[in-house]
Amino acid sequence: MFGSDFTPILIMLVVLAGLFIILREFMCWYWKQNKIVDLLQEINDKLAGKENPLLEPANLDTTSQSTTAAPSSKVTKTEWICTCGTKNPLDKTKKIQNCSECGKNRDFVLKNS
Ligand SMILES: [Zn+2]
Repeated sequence: MFGSDFTPILIMLVVLAGLFIILREFMCWYWKQNKIVDLLQEINDKLAGKENPLLEPANLDTTSQSTTAAPSSKVTKTEWICTCGTKNPLDKTKKIQNCSECGKNRDFVLKNS
């Protein structure tokens, strides 16, 4: 008596659990959850690990070499010389001025020379 009352409920629970697992798998596939998690994990690994090229000192060396190899920037009353060697007219009234040749920002170039 007791067992026969609970048998359909048990069967229903098992069916619902199976349905849940199947639907969960389908939803994860449909919304690309697994792919997203894999990609995020990959990104996180790259950011944290040695694979990150931004953290490698070799890259910093090449940028500093290029700036030191180029003529250093100077500023006079009428012009400012970019790190690439281009002479640009100096206009202090303009807040933003970029090199006509390489497009580097004036203030950035003069600050970092
Ligand atoms: Zn320049």
